[in-house]
Amino acid sequence: MSSPLEILQRVFGYEAFRGEQQAIIETLMAGGDALVLMPTGGGKSLCYQIPALLRPGTAIVVSPLIALMQDQVDALRELGVSAAYLNSSQDWQEAREVERRLLDGQLDLLYVAPERLLTDRCMDLLARSRIALFAIDEAHCVSQWGHDFRPEYLGLSALHERWPDVPRIALTATATDTTREEIARRLSLENAHHFVSSFDRPNILYRIVEKNEVKRQLLSFIREEHAGDSGIVYCLSRSRVEDTAAFLSQNGVSALPYHAGMDANVRAQHQARFLREEGLVMVATIAFGMGVNKPDVRFVAHVDLPKSVEGYYQETGRAGRDGDPATAWMAYGLQDVVQQRRMIDESLGDDAFKRRSGRQLDAMLGLCETVDCRRQQLLAYFGQAIAPCGNCDTCLEPPESWDGTVAAQKVLSAIFRLWRERGQRYGAGHIIDILRGKATPRVREQGHDTLSVFGVGADLSEHAWRGVLRQLLAKGLVTVDFEGHGTLMLTETSRSVLKGEVTLMLRRETREPGRSVSRRAPSPDIDLDADQRERFEALRAWRAEVAREHGVPAYVIFHDATLREVARREPRTLDELSEIHGVGVRKLEAYGESLLECVGAA
Ligand code: ADP
Ligand code: ZN
Repeated sequence: MSSPLEILQRVFGYEAFRGEQQAIIETLMAGGDALVLMPTGGGKSLCYQIPALLRPGTAIVVSPLIALMQDQVDALRELGVSAAYLNSSQDWQEAREVERRLLDGQLDLLYVAPERLLTDRCMDLLARSRIALFAIDEAHCVSQWGHDFRPEYLGLSALHERWPDVPRIALTATATDTTREEIARRLSLENAHHFVSSFDRPNILYRIVEKNEVKRQLLSFIREEHAGDSGIVYCLSRSRVEDTAAFLSQNGVSALPYHAGMDANVRAQHQARFLREEGLVMVATIAFGMGVNKPDVRFVAHVDLPKSVEGYYQETGRAGRDGDPATAWMAYGLQDVVQQRRMIDESLGDDAFKRRSGRQLDAMLGLCETVDCRRQQLLAYFGQAIAPCGNCDTCLEPPESWDGTVAAQKVLSAIFRLWRERGQRYGAGHIIDILRGKATPRVREQGHDTLSVFGVGADLSEHAWRGVLRQLLAKGLVTVDFEGHGTLMLTETSRSVLKGEVTLMLRRETREPGRSVSRRAPSPDIDLDADQRERFEALRAWRAEVAREHGVPAYVIFHDATLREVARREPRTLDELSEIHGVGVRKLEAYGESLLECVGAA
């Protein structure tokens, strides 16, 4: 019998295991259960695919998204692995054929949606087959507090009751301890070996910029740093999705919308195009992304503030699974804080829900306003400590902080005076006008130019004042009254600032919201010389052709990293080619000659 390492090298074409892959595989080989927390792109699939090939019988993989099973199975078949799926997209004849192959012991892996798995028919079928292991992918879907809850997942503990001796592995990229405990409890994995990897994604460059004209900012970010790349843009609402996708398309970026309100067929079509074509930008609500294994997503952009750090990390984690440089970009402003607080305030949840949502928002705001390393903050949220990373905006261009105590006192006393002396409340714009001494018609009409705070803030620009207010809101020193149409109010904690009991350090706003070259993610092709670049482009064209013939996404044939190495090393023989990362026996056999020809011709 082969060893796991031999399978890794021969079938997958990789030299060595990453992180805890080997230990996880050994646990399953020995018949034990495993609960695996690994970041997106960490290499979770190999943890069950290799035991599936080594253990007698078929591995049953529970996966929540039927639209993506086909791609997973295609990718395995390209590697020469015998895999199939059972889901509602098939007609009964196809399904019968898969069932027959399962019963005949011809399958190494079978992907099944949870609702299908739990039917009597499917359970009976499994009872008549030999099962190598159960893999439960996206296991955080069992968590009722999470953002991806799937009620069907709750039924999966039945697997353990019915097949107590079959090893099970549950996998997720969701990192918090509470989720992990919940998964263990609900899936009866109390005795499983827990494997918690580092959640760091060193190849992702994190950047959070101040929002002013967000669509224009997004467009220049894409044009200047990721022209022609695949990417995902997350928006909070359906209308924002439509609007942003249309704007990008009008400006020459190939972009498609995706949200739950769209016709299901069109949505599926957009997803399929995103996976298959290169250089498409998907503009989506958070309904999009789980289970999308596209490895060459080069950026994830947020044009609205995410609701929690956990959600943000999941979404940004979809960038750069192939390990090449990628960017997580977000634009955030005063209005985002107001809007999110409003959504919590107006939500139908009970007080506990609102408190939890409020805490999640506070953590997210803390990340946005930090003057320290973003990655350090992110990982600290998941209980992991690291040194400053050198690959986030605050590391690359440390923001200045300044003593904003006096400025904060000016804002707070303006809000306080308006309320105490006039019984009035106003929103941010008007307060800033008063502070800056702008005698707008509204200011004059209300007689606010006679207030003692009128003009006391002329030393700061409007931009700077918005920054102060945003940070006060983020820190809970000011709050918003939604019954009063988003007007500003003081809070319990405002008093200590007004009285000068605390010093308030604020993040200085960049003078011109924009970017500098030093903050960009380096292009992965940067170390190719002109000849190698040309060869690389020729190889990509060759790959596009092959992918079209096979009806699979290009990355299923070879990853960019593999083609880049081919371009660099110029292999002349099949032997030399087989040395290259990502070239396993099956792909060597299927594409080796044709690829060498392409290298020779270029
Ligand atoms: P996850 O499911 O954890 O997001 P995947 O299983 O999709 O991650 O793996 C991410 C990428 O890393 C894939 O392209 C995979 O082929 C690659 N990969 C996984 N393990 C290894 C390894 N040991 N060596 C090299 N590449 C690997
Ligand atoms: Zn950093």
